[in-house]
Amino acid sequence: MTLNSLKTIKYLILLLAFHFNQICFAEDTQSPYLIILGIAQDAGYPQAGCYQKHCMKGWKNPTEQKSPVSLGLVDPKFKNKYLFEATPNLPQQLYKLDQNTLGLDYKLNGVFLTHAHIGHYTGLMFLGHESMGAQNIPVFAMPKMKIFLENNGPWSQLVNYKNIIIKPLKNKQTENLGSIKVTPFIVPHRDEFSETVGFRIEGPNKSALFIPDINKWSVWKQNLASMIKTVDYAFLDATFFAQGELPGRDMTKVPHPLVTETMNELKELSMQERNKVWLIHFNHTNPLLNQESKAREQVKAFGFNIAEEGLILFL
Ligand SMILES: [Zn+2]
Ligand SMILES: [Zn+2]
Ligand SMILES: [Zn+2]
Repeated sequence: MTLNSLKTIKYLILLLAFHFNQICFAEDTQSPYLIILGIAQDAGYPQAGCYQKHCMKGWKNPTEQKSPVSLGLVDPKFKNKYLFEATPNLPQQLYKLDQNTLGLDYKLNGVFLTHAHIGHYTGLMFLGHESMGAQNIPVFAMPKMKIFLENNGPWSQLVNYKNIIIKPLKNKQTENLGSIKVTPFIVPHRDEFSETVGFRIEGPNKSALFIPDINKWSVWKQNLASMIKTVDYAFLDATFFAQGELPGRDMTKVPHPLVTETMNELKELSMQERNKVWLIHFNHTNPLLNQESKAREQVKAFGFNIAEEGLILFL
C-alpha cells in the first residue's frame, strides 16, 4: 500500500468519526446539560498563602489550578444558560460556559446561590457597574440571602442599579424554567450571613442533587442514601478526605462530612447507586486533588466519581 492511499484511508476514518460525532450530538441537541465549571472549595486550588508541597504544584503549573465549585446548565430548547454559584472565578467560568454555547446567543437566565460564603456568591460583583454592567440578571436566592444582598454593599449596588433582579426562593418550592426544574432544600451549615441550601435539578430525562456545603450527614434530617436513589447524579460535599487533614486547626470548627464518612454512610448502596455520586468542593489539602493519590484509588474502587472541570452530564 502506498503512503498516499494510507493517508486517504486515515482521512476517511477521520471523516466518518466526525460525522458519527455529529449524529450523536444531534440526538442530544434538545437535552439540557450540566457542565462542571469548578470543583474546589471556596478558596480554590492552590490556596492563598499556601506553599506546601500539595499547593506548589498548582502555583508552578497554572493548568493544575482549580476554581471554586460551580455548575453551568445549558437549556438548548429555550436557548437559556444558568450558573449554580457565582464564584470569585466567575469570569473564567462564564467564558467556559459561553464557549460551550458559542455563537448560539444563549441568555444568562439565572444564577442560583446556595449561601453567603465567599466561594459561592462573591462572583456576583462581575455582573456590576465596574465589570459587565449586566441588566436584570435573575439571581435566585433564599430569604436571608436576599436580605443580605439587598442590605450590604457592594451587593446592594447590583440591586439598586438593576444589574441583578433577585428572585426569591422558598424551601422545597420548585422553580419551573423551560426544560428544567430547580428545587432548593435547606441543609445544616455555618449560617453566619444566610441560610444554606442544596438544589435538586431536574431535566426531562435525568435529575441531579447539588450539595456543595453541608455539616455532618448525621445532623441532617434527610437520609442521604434514600435521596440518592431518587436521582441520576449526586454532587456531594467532599471538602476533606479524612481526619487530621488540617494540622494545627480544629476540624470541628469547619464541620463537613469527611469523604471517609460519606463512604461509610453509603456503604449499603449498590455499586450502581454509588456510581451516581460525584465528589466536589475539595479543600486544597484534600488528597483527591492529587491524580496519583491512594485516596483517589480508594474512592474510585468504592464506586464514587471525582468531579472534573469541563465534564458534561445530560439531564
Ligand atoms: Zn463552600
Ligand atoms: Zn495548600
Ligand atoms: Zn460554606
